[in-house]
Amino acid sequence: MNSRVRRRHGPGRERHYDRVVAVRVGVFGGTFDPIHTGHIVAASSARHALGLAEVLVIPAGDPWQKSGAVHACAADRLALAAAAIEGIDGLRLCSLEVERAGPTYTADTLEALAEPERELVLILGADAVRGLGSWSRADEIKHRAVIAVVHREGDSEALPPGPGWRCERVEIPRLDISSTDVRTRLARGEPVDGLMPPAAIHVVRERRLYTAPR
Ligand code: ATP
Ligand code: MG
Repeated sequence: MNSRVRRRHGPGRERHYDRVVAVRVGVFGGTFDPIHTGHIVAASSARHALGLAEVLVIPAGDPWQKSGAVHACAADRLALAAAAIEGIDGLRLCSLEVERAGPTYTADTLEALAEPERELVLILGADAVRGLGSWSRADEIKHRAVIAVVHREGDSEALPPGPGWRCERVEIPRLDISSTDVRTRLARGEPVDGLMPPAAIHVVRERRLYTAPR
């Protein structure tokens, strides 16, 4: 079979002469405590730059690296993410990790999302890529996904932890926003307009989230 690409058929799909191969799906996990504009820019830029059919935005249930230091409950972080991505083309909320009991491991998520004709693209900020070698079942992650390294202007180079990793790089504008900073501002009663989508701010207010430092 000749598998030379003839024509692109919409984001994520490349139609070969007589078959459709590998729809590329982005996997963007995080504690999202809370989700903020930097996250949205990363997900949406990766989708566009890498021709992803969609990006699954996946709040972690019980992130093992932050266990004990998560502020809002999974249901609240899910509601924030749902509100934040509403109306943004190609971003889709996935509740798989909050529905799974026990600590959240990316290897389990990739296993659950694996499908024939689907290529999983794990979207990670440069800081996250640096820690990748210490993640549970890193070798399995290496085989199950292509890594999309989201590189913000001014970031130092983030290399995969060893040989055999398939990596692609996405340049995004630098937005120095972090969930930690957003929480601090909210606890002080300061505005976060522009740092989070308005609909997510609405959820923060409605559910009285992040009112006190913890
Ligand atoms: P915290 O302050 O608790 O570390 P965070 O803002 O880094 O939170 P996470 O939920 O830890 O948010 O991040 C999820 C993913 O989003 C990670 O891959 C991280 O690298 C990436 N990310 C975080 N902040 C930004 C940003 N401002 N721009 C682009 N990507 C970001
Ligand atoms: Mg972080």
